[in-house]
Amino acid sequence: MSSPASPVQRRPSVPVQVGYGAGSVSVGGDHPVVVQSMTNTDTADAVGTAIQIAQLAKAGSELVRITVNSEEAAAAVAEIRARLDDMGVNVPLIGDFHFNGHRLLTKHPACAQALAKYRINPGNVGRGKKKDEQFATLIGFARDHTKPVRIGVNWGSLDQELVVRLMDENARRAEPLDTAIVTREALIVSALESAQRAEELGLRHDQIILSVKMSGVQDLIAVYRALAARCDYPLHLGLTEAGMGSKGIVASTAALAVLLQEGIGDTIRISLTPEPGGDRTQEVVVAQEILQSMGLRAFTPQVVACPGCGRTTSTTFQQLAQDIQSYLRQQMPIWRAQYPGVENLTVAVMGCVVNGPGESKHANIGISLPGTGEVPVAPVYVDGEKTVTLKGEQIAVEFQQIVDAYVVRRFGGHA
Ligand code: SF4
Repeated sequence: MSSPASPVQRRPSVPVQVGYGAGSVSVGGDHPVVVQSMTNTDTADAVGTAIQIAQLAKAGSELVRITVNSEEAAAAVAEIRARLDDMGVNVPLIGDFHFNGHRLLTKHPACAQALAKYRINPGNVGRGKKKDEQFATLIGFARDHTKPVRIGVNWGSLDQELVVRLMDENARRAEPLDTAIVTREALIVSALESAQRAEELGLRHDQIILSVKMSGVQDLIAVYRALAARCDYPLHLGLTEAGMGSKGIVASTAALAVLLQEGIGDTIRISLTPEPGGDRTQEVVVAQEILQSMGLRAFTPQVVACPGCGRTTSTTFQQLAQDIQSYLRQQMPIWRAQYPGVENLTVAVMGCVVNGPGESKHANIGISLPGTGEVPVAPVYVDGEKTVTLKGEQIAVEFQQIVDAYVVRRFGGHA
């Protein structure tokens, strides 16, 4: 992984180790912000789930969460882990527990062992006296198996006894606070009180990560700012139920970018609703692009492309920009190992002479395609210098060859 000098001052937090050996990931402290994702397969389907986890990991997910919601799912977890190990995929797995986690971990010790981290939702652990007992059981497994936990509060499943308590306290104030503020406070108190209880039960301080997810952008920013100021646990960020398509991407980016810019956030997940039959790995790509656009991490060479305008009457340059971006992303699983630093490569694909040469000179490699009425040639710039002018039907192929040769020459010396 590449971690250029961070342009933001990170909030101090105590690092948490997730997993062991080659696949382990450090969250918090000075470690780079970690990309997470979650499967949407039936965990009881060990083969299908292992395949999707492998796809998510290949796309760049550094932690993958799976729901563990039934006996069958819990029974499949060890097999999923074994299948991934056989495939050479060592990404740590996080088990997502609600309602019956205490029972499933008790009955399936292999599941407890195979998972690298447990996600516990304090609002869904149980009710009344059972809540404390069942929470203690879950924490006991984490303590005894030396696993970290994420205490993941979600406003859609907030501990109702806590909400009632805080609302009652608020009603007794001389000047009661707005309900939205009390709700946010309830999320924070739920997370912090649960973390304190977990430590009283024997979990180490550096085995705890917190999250307080909400679905409104302003709510999310406000609640994380407040939580960040009140603890030094690493924080997992995500806008819950972000939604589909551009809405989900934009809302998630708007919320997370503000927090990340303030140094808040140690892991992120983008909760996109996939299109029917859509690719689950999109949430990984979006998470990476947020971090890379902000200069916090680098994952994949970036393509700078102009939007096109009336000076371009063909879609040639849009096609070339798309083809190059896809090609670079496809190459990354191999290039990452062979050509360290290649993720910092920038490629410009521009539509005409207006900004084409200038933008191309700023990139490592740039091509300025001819706009309408221009001479049908495409100058190529390498490290700011014009090196060749392409023309004819093979421009795309020749440009890709130039990119390949540059990658080998510039980044191959470290292999
Ligand atoms: S570089 Fe040329 S084609 Fe692209 S947006 Fe600018 S003027 Fe239009």
